[in-house]
Amino acid sequence: MKTEISEELYEKAQRFMPGGVNSPVRACKAVGTVPLFIDRAKGSHIWDEDGNEFIDYVCSWGPNILGHSFEPITAAVKSSCDKGLTFGACHKGEIELAELILKHFPSMEMLRLVNSGTEAVMSAIRSARGFTGREKIVKFEGCYHGHSDGLLVKAGSGLMTQAIPSGAGVTEGCVKDTLLAVFNSEASVEELFEKYGGEIACVVVEPCAANMGVVPPKQGFLKFLREITKKHGALLIFDEVITGFRLSIGGAQSFYGITPDITTLGKIVGGGMPLAAYGGRREIMECIAPLGSVYQAGTLSGNPCAVAAGIAMIKQLESIPDLYKSLDSKAKLLETAMKNAGLNVNRCGSLLTAFFTDKSVESYDEARCCDTEKYARFYRHLLNSGIYTAPSQFEAMFVSFAHTDEDIERTIEAISSFS
Ligand SMILES: *Cc1c(COP(=O)(O)O)cnc(C)c1O
Repeated sequence: MKTEISEELYEKAQRFMPGGVNSPVRACKAVGTVPLFIDRAKGSHIWDEDGNEFIDYVCSWGPNILGHSFEPITAAVKSSCDKGLTFGACHKGEIELAELILKHFPSMEMLRLVNSGTEAVMSAIRSARGFTGREKIVKFEGCYHGHSDGLLVKAGSGLMTQAIPSGAGVTEGCVKDTLLAVFNSEASVEELFEKYGGEIACVVVEPCAANMGVVPPKQGFLKFLREITKKHGALLIFDEVITGFRLSIGGAQSFYGITPDITTLGKIVGGGMPLAAYGGRREIMECIAPLGSVYQAGTLSGNPCAVAAGIAMIKQLESIPDLYKSLDSKAKLLETAMKNAGLNVNRCGSLLTAFFTDKSVESYDEARCCDTEKYARFYRHLLNSGIYTAPSQFEAMFVSFAHTDEDIERTIEAISSFS
């Protein structure tokens, strides 16, 4: 595989951006390769600047559930662009997208459109605090909720990849109200509620964790979170930035049958454009300005081109027959191939991770014990076989509608030949 052009570009990029990247995991430090500079992508395949072609299982970390450059979405964006890139004012598309989202997420009675998952979760937490008048929040080790200060404590994703326990530059004051619980441990949550019950505004959780690698909730865990939050007058926030429109069209809440008070969406909801959302029960959302005193705003929020992409995406998800069944069965084939190759794999729908450890992975501490050197070898083996996956043990593999039988077969062959 030739990587001369990517290497040259990486050299140059490092002069202008920290680590040469605009998001840390992209630097590929954990897998010991040079980051590939992508030129274009179509369907399930991406091409780098050196002309290498790969079957892509990163799919932009989730948004491209229908594959890259899916025509109905790109067409919607193009025609929206022709009418103006941004107005900073109301437009019809916002209503159409809001209606589409609320239809599939009935737990959300109202919502706000924002620009990133980080913003969505940060605003959701502010709303929970404003609504309850309480200050503390509970988050789980290994869950990632974007890079706002109060949530960068034992967070998953890039922090886990680089073994940064909590980010520098985050003051003690910012995290003093963040209480940490252990994913899948009811006892750890009970303990916090016993100690701080009346002070806890919300519990925020990835209903299926996907930022420490994929770690599904144990049977009954989400129901337990629903009950204990209700009992103590705290809100339950499902961070569905990955799982929304992924595990089912109604996200993890429909998949597991648990109703949160507030939901955050990102990634897929923007159809590949920078768009995210948060929403919940009407009485909570009515606390937000201009109706209430919780402030949240955005110059580009509800951007017409991003909204057009979101609308086109959801309409496609609605219209493709058996979409989620087909995603599930493709992912299952990969899971089986990994198991046959002796790998330890967690899967939930079209999200999966091969963990390089003998023990089952149900929480952050178990995920952290993985042999990341071996993962790096696995990554390089796949890359050399023409398969592009996440350059970190602590991320998911994303299967898309665009992956063909042939793609899956080639991937299975590559997995089988790993030793
Ligand atoms: C990606 C992600 C975020 C952050 O979204 P950005 O758009 O990267 O800011 C938040 N929560 C979860 C669960 C995510 O996977």
